[in-house]
Parts: sequence; structure tokens; C-alpha cells
Amino acid sequence: MSDRVITVLGAGTMGHGIAQVAAMAGYETRLFDVDEGALAAGAARISANLEKGIARGKVTAEIRDAALALLTTHTDLGEAAAGSDAVIEAAPERLELKQQLLRECAEAAGPNTLLGTNTSSLAISRIAEAVPDPERVVGMHFFNPVHIMALLEIVQGKRTDDQSVGRAREIGERMGKTPIVVKDSPGFASSRLGVVLGLEAIRMLEEGVASAEDIDTAMRLGYRHPMGPLRLGDLVGLDVRLDIARYLHRELGSPQFEPPSLLERMVEEGKLGQKTGEGFYRWDD
Ligand code: NAD
Repeated sequence: MSDRVITVLGAGTMGHGIAQVAAMAGYETRLFDVDEGALAAGAARISANLEKGIARGKVTAEIRDAALALLTTHTDLGEAAAGSDAVIEAAPERLELKQQLLRECAEAAGPNTLLGTNTSSLAISRIAEAVPDPERVVGMHFFNPVHIMALLEIVQGKRTDDQSVGRAREIGERMGKTPIVVKDSPGFASSRLGVVLGLEAIRMLEEGVASAEDIDTAMRLGYRHPMGPLRLGDLVGLDVRLDIARYLHRELGSPQFEPPSLLERMVEEGKLGQKTGEGFYRWDD
């Protein structure tokens, strides 16, 4: 039997986007946040995204109306999770918080509810330790902005069963995403590979191999990347990149994850990329 009701925990950058694609896919969607202001802001962002979609001819008024009719907002976790078929957690990246939320949902929602987490770096197997039946805990790693990015990285923890992976896959496909299945290892598939490329580009810049523009152009025109690694680093935020590099270096021990000194220096100087107006590029608007 197909899943029908999805509860999204956290209405921030990722949560509002996941709720939007869930409602657009026809799921009864409940968006939960502890912060009423964040919840209202998340709902407003969903409406704004849908309006933008209409203006661009990508969304019809019928799809917008149907999606908004399926969406409700909640500040009571028990109410949001009761009778839900799948929970997708998108709360801040803290192990204890994610464990506590999934534990509460496991009780409130029922024994068959799929427990998904959108963590970008924590081990799924660790998060699942908090739940009596870790077989139903699965990583569902969406990308920002969720309504545009096509990838869903499904992460199978040590004890996640195949049925849960299958349900996560079905949900992702119904949302229009292309799922890949990855073992629970640091950086999953996407960050591990993407970060190596980004760090090597920084090392090349530091060594004076080429300018930032030319390194990026090499990847765009030579390898058909839609955007070069240095520009992408500016968009992600160099502080975020540095944190992930340090984490992967610690966990995997490979020298390619050692943060280049140029990256450390830029973060110390507050050159974090687009959000501060300067990174490898200038972002004056
Ligand atoms: P965010 O800070 O934008 O949003 C987090 C939301 O969670 C906030 O609205 C906050 O009010 C809410 N929250 C706080 N405590 C809560 C609780 N106890 N219960 C429910 N909600 C609570 O964060 P984000 O960028 O959306 O990240 C959320 C998760 O997604 C993190 O695990 C992050 O690692 C992961 N992720 C982020 C990105 C990204 O590009 N931002 C990409 C992939 C995965």
C-alpha cells in the first residue's frame, strides 16, 4: 500500500522545500516547527515559490491550489505525526535533537511509519539508535533548493531494511526526484566527491596554477559541469565547506580532505562567499 501522509519536521531552508514537493506530489503534508515564526515564514516561502512557478509557466494555478489544500502547519509534534505514513526530519544538524524528534515520532505516529532524516553529515545508524526499531530509519538527503534540485540521496544505515529504502525511493520518485542509494559512510556519495573537487580547486588557486575564473571554466567547458567548483563553494558558503572538510578529514583520514590554508584564511577574514559579498568572486548586488 502506498504512503499517503507525510510529516516534515522543521520549516527552514530544507523543510519548507520538502513540504512543497510533498504537497505537489499529492501527499497530505503536515509541516511542523517549534518556532511559530519559522513555520509562518516556511509556509510563505512555499506560496511564493508556487507563484514564481506560475509566472515562469512551470506550475499551473490548479497545481498550486491542490498543493496548498494538502498542506497544514503545526506546532504540536504529536498532532503533526499522528497517523502519518512517513516523517521527514529537517531540523538543525544536531544528533541529540534528531534522535529525540525521531523517538517522539516513532511513538506518536505508529509502528509502520517510515522515519526519514535529511541530515547532510550525521551517521544514519547513530540517529537510528534512538528508536526501538531502527529498520525503519532512513536517510533522505535532499538538495537546496529542494523544489529545483533533482537528486535524492537515500542513505541506508547499518540496520535500515530494504523495505524502508524502497518506500523512500517511491516517495522520492513521486516527488519527481531521481534517487540514488548510498551506504551510511561519511559524506555519503555527493559531499565526499564534491568536496574533494572543491578543495583541490582551492589548492590549485593557492599554488597559482590558474585564476579562479579559469579553473572554473576548465570544469564547465572541459567536463560539462554547470558551474565551476570555486563558484559553487562561494554559493554554499566557505565556512560550511570548511566544516565539512574538517569533518571528512577527521572521519576518513585521507589527505585530500585536509583543508587548504587559503580556505582557512578566507574564513578567518570573513570572506565566506555570496553571503558576505566576497569569496573567490565578488558578489556585489
Ligand atoms: P534551517 O536552520 O534553515 O531550518 C531548521 C528549522 O528547524 C528551523 O525552522 C527551526 O526553527 C527548526 N527547528 C529547530 N528546533 C526544532 C525542533 N525541535 N523541531 C522541529 N523543528 C525545529 O536548517 P536547514 O538548512 O533547513 O537544515 C536542516 C537539515 O537539513 C540539517 O540537518 C542540514 O544538515 C540538512 N541539509 C541542509 C542543506 C542546506 O543546503 N541547507 C542541504 C541538505 C541537507
